Amino acid sequence: MAEVLVYVDHLDGAVRKPTLELLTLARRIGEPVAVALGNGAADTADVLAEHGAVKVLTADAPEFADYLVVPKVDALQAAFDAVSPAAVLLSSSAEAKEIAARLAVRIGSGIITDAVDLEAGDQGPVATQSAFAASYTTKSRVSKGVPVITVKPNSAPVEAASAAGAVETLAVTFSAQATGTKVLSRTPRESTGRPELTEAAIVVSGGRGVNGAENFAVIEALADSLGAAVGASRAAVDAGWYPHTNQVGQTGKSVSPQLYIANGISGAIQHRAGMQTSKTIVAVNKDAEAPIFDLVDYGVVGDLFAVVPQLTEEINTRKG
Ligand code: FAD
Repeated sequence: MAEVLVYVDHLDGAVRKPTLELLTLARRIGEPVAVALGNGAADTADVLAEHGAVKVLTADAPEFADYLVVPKVDALQAAFDAVSPAAVLLSSSAEAKEIAARLAVRIGSGIITDAVDLEAGDQGPVATQSAFAASYTTKSRVSKGVPVITVKPNSAPVEAASAAGAVETLAVTFSAQATGTKVLSRTPRESTGRPELTEAAIVVSGGRGVNGAENFAVIEALADSLGAAVGASRAAVDAGWYPHTNQVGQTGKSVSPQLYIANGISGAIQHRAGMQTSKTIVAVNKDAEAPIFDLVDYGVVGDLFAVVPQLTEEINTRKG
């Protein structure tokens, strides 16, 4: 069976959920060989094996410690040369997409980004993508070289599948580009304790209807009751009520959670572009004619300041 390289997203050895989802998809098209880099890389092996990785290639070096993509591209290329895989899969984070693009150029392959599904095909893996604000679903495959494919978080279930997960050390020779850039300083962002927007299973978003930065506390309280990430429409971001890093949509982030709750958001096409592939969509809007109601699974016509606190209270009560 052909081997499929899976680039592992982890923090000090703790594997992030999108990587486990990638392993589910990788097993559909071949035998997953995971590539884990940086501090704690070898600690990822057990979890990866429990989700179907037949082999885990690890490398650790100071070059992987910072947000520098070229050393990681060098390592992934070394893994590619060692394995000769049938495909390379990465999750659709900003960093992984840059790594994917650079690798594809180096190995002369086509690339598919932001796939939402993946299946085996006669002429190679077939990826499903959502296009034009999810008005269309396209299926495509790479016709040149070995496909490099990035997959959106929450696109596949996490499935247990026991495999050997034998750990092998990957020899990496860094290119001049990799060693030519140094990080001089970094300023960590204050942590909110909430999940990453693009990885969260639940996203609670607020729009212009939230009517002020301080009112986002209502949205945050609902998010916290559900263990969700907070999103915002561009109108809310442009008004300075919430950071741009939380913007959902065409010029913001693309999310695909199990549950998306839109509060005071009209449902403009550019907002839909970033959330329409969510599995279940709920909207709270005081205008029954708001376009968001065309795509919801559940809609509440009402004032968010009356509806959302009640919902939060009910959830907190049920949680005990
Ligand atoms: P509005 O459209 O003003 O809707 C506010 C809604 O809140 C209304 O439906 C109203 O009925 C409801 N409301 C008001 N008060 C309450 C209340 N108390 N309770 C309940 N409901 C209430 N937008 C994005 O979101 N993301 C993007 O990435 C993005 N990219 C863009 C890129 C381009 C090139 C362009 C041109 C536009 C882009 N936009 C984007 C902007 C987009 O077109 C809309 O302007 C924006 O999404 C509107 O945000 P909104 O729904 O919060 O505001």
